[in-house]
Amino acid sequence: MLELHRAVAAAETKASLVVASERMKMERLVEEVKAQVKMEVMETLNKQERSNENCWNCGRAASETCSGCNRARYCGPFCQHKDWENHHKVC
Ligand SMILES: [Zn+2]
Ligand SMILES: [Zn+2]
Repeated sequence: MLELHRAVAAAETKASLVVASERMKMERLVEEVKAQVKMEVMETLNKQERSNENCWNCGRAASETCSGCNRARYCGPFCQHKDWENHHKVC
């Protein structure tokens, strides 16, 4: 009986070690996926910011174009006015 008990205990120990290492692998995988998703979101945000189709000041959808150069785009007069101190150098 003692032998059996020892064998069961050993099997349980082994099983819990396997579970622990599998859990660690899973957790690492989850962390990797999370980091990857974060990167993708950041890239998407950067792309949106750099897009000339959006407001050059705040990045939202633009509806107005600078009448001086027809290149700069703004969501409204507020943003156009706000960006002017930078934009007038290249306008
Ligand atoms: Zn704006
Ligand atoms: Zn301009």
